[in-house]
Amino acid sequence: MTRLTSDFIKNLMKEYGVDLAGIASVERFRGAPPGHGPLDLVPRAKSVIVGGIRIPDPVVDYDEYHLKMTEMETGLGILANIENFYMQMGHYVQDMMLNIAATRLANYLEVNHGLRSLPAVNAQHTGLGHPVMEATMGFFSQRHAAVRAGLGEFGFSGLVINPRFGPRVRYVSVITEADLEPDPLLTEKVCMRGKCGGDAGPRCQQRCAKGALKLLPDIDLENVFIDIPVRLDRPKCIDMSGAGEVIGCTFVGTCMRDCPVGKQLTNR
Ligand code: SF4
Ligand code: SF4
Repeated sequence: MTRLTSDFIKNLMKEYGVDLAGIASVERFRGAPPGHGPLDLVPRAKSVIVGGIRIPDPVVDYDEYHLKMTEMETGLGILANIENFYMQMGHYVQDMMLNIAATRLANYLEVNHGLRSLPAVNAQHTGLGHPVMEATMGFFSQRHAAVRAGLGEFGFSGLVINPRFGPRVRYVSVITEADLEPDPLLTEKVCMRGKCGGDAGPRCQQRCAKGALKLLPDIDLENVFIDIPVRLDRPKCIDMSGAGEVIGCTFVGTCMRDCPVGKQLTNR
């Protein structure tokens, strides 16, 4: 039987299709809301294995495509591009690839090692798993897991900022009884803490047309953020009023698109 090491498991996860892999111990989830911690779901869990898949740059940068599609009325063009790029190629595809990789890894751990392992679904835009869009939280926070597995820190946008790819990554987790060496948490800050936006303040918050991001009081700017430093007004973010003109921030995902960290490994 193959000896289970952290490197072996992360390489296996990468063979299953993820770009990033990291491991957190369950102790790092102390204080999770009741019912939403790894031990609530797998009581003898020891580790949370996290995988991330990057979103290609031209998918994130879909906000001008409608300008050239002159046969379509502007609002319709924006809506079509949100559906095609933000929803499908920037969410659904990554979410399902991640869910498949997580299921393969969970089956590997259960079948070959008898270790109970839950592929903790990433269901944001699969059309399943979120019957109530106004729900304040999913059943397991992939973002908190990614930070606790050393893959990034939270930014002023509330997104996980990976040092290489910035916020342009989706994540999934496998909660498992496998006792694996955790990766270190980041020790260097990644979010620019507003320096990205000059005198006008954090770029992500300037560009959030709905004003949905508000910095929490009393945050320590010197520490790496392992918890979300902002309050997201979710109803504002997903506001569908004026559909065709404004949905959330008109071009959903502006806080991801305009973050300079990891912005465009390629040229636009
Ligand atoms: S997706 Fe748009 S509305 Fe929502 S927080 Fe980001 S910038 Fe604001
Ligand atoms: S846009 Fe600037 S302040 Fe916002 S998350 Fe990115 S680096 Fe941080």
